[in-house]
Amino acid sequence: MNEQVKQTILDTIEQYRTIIISRHIRPDGDAVGSTMGLRHVLRDTYPEKNIYLVDDDFADYLAFCGGEDTLPEEAYKGALLIVIDTGTRKRISNHNYALAEKIIKIDHHIEADPYGDINWVEDFRSSACEMIADFCMTFRGKLTLSPTAATYIYMGMVTDSGRFRFEGVTGETMRLAGSMLECGVDYETLFSNLYAEDLASLRLKSYVYDNLRITEHGFAYIYMDTAVQEKFGLTFEQACSVVGELSDIRGSLIWAAFIDNAAENQIRVRLRSRFLGINDLAKQYHGGGHNMAAGATVYSVEEMERLIADADVLLGEYKSTHKGWL
Ligand code: AMP
Repeated sequence: MNEQVKQTILDTIEQYRTIIISRHIRPDGDAVGSTMGLRHVLRDTYPEKNIYLVDDDFADYLAFCGGEDTLPEEAYKGALLIVIDTGTRKRISNHNYALAEKIIKIDHHIEADPYGDINWVEDFRSSACEMIADFCMTFRGKLTLSPTAATYIYMGMVTDSGRFRFEGVTGETMRLAGSMLECGVDYETLFSNLYAEDLASLRLKSYVYDNLRITEHGFAYIYMDTAVQEKFGLTFEQACSVVGELSDIRGSLIWAAFIDNAAENQIRVRLRSRFLGINDLAKQYHGGGHNMAAGATVYSVEEMERLIADADVLLGEYKSTHKGWL
């Protein structure tokens, strides 16, 4: 069935002269890689078309990927919009999205809002970039996949799968990643841009390990208020990235970063887990996402404490009914 959706997407792309590509707010490597990658593929394949990437948001740590386009509202008239890696319309990082004539949604989150006129959603995929890679390989005789496009797509596959470690990575993921590599991915430059760290970020890690807390049953979390964010000179997104530092603590199967967003009077929660799902927990706190990686928002320290208590109970129940966890 999805073969048919992919064909419909290609046919629709061919029908439109102006195509705008967008992604989700607070873009990550997958959102940036999939949209930049597809923009390159479509520009190289259809030089006569107007292909744009429009995004209201920006991630400093991905600035090396290059910029987006700015479009006046009139440009949306009769245009096709392709939104990638964005589960719900609320998360589309393009305030003009509804002006487009037709919307295609390409996404790997659990379907919660089929806002596209055409929806290609495969929640078993480890990244949206995996879907873009699949799309390119399905139509490889037709679509031009340059080393630059392949590098962007590979970047999203690498980052969203935690370097091919997370749930959802399959043989198909690796075959598609292999196809991207064969197109000439410049992985040395890519990995240096993604993972080389300066001393300030290592000092931040040191702060995280000194200040994290672990509940009775092993829920590890760190709360970063605005004073700490300022002390380390962090942008909000940099502060949010500290969740990654909590991932490998033995016995801690759920972990989270709570990042104060004082400007919006809320606390962003980035939740991660292994062995047990935390998507339902995120949903109880104005959030959602995947089984093992989800996000939520809490509006007070008291609500944060309720989430911490709920996570601890969830983990306690899991540990008392399962064996083999580390
Ligand atoms: P993050 O911690 O922002 O990387 O989010 C992990 C996953 O949960 C991503 O797939 C997000 O798209 C999703 N997610 C994050 N925050 C929310 C939210 N408030 N509502 C629904 N999904 C979310």
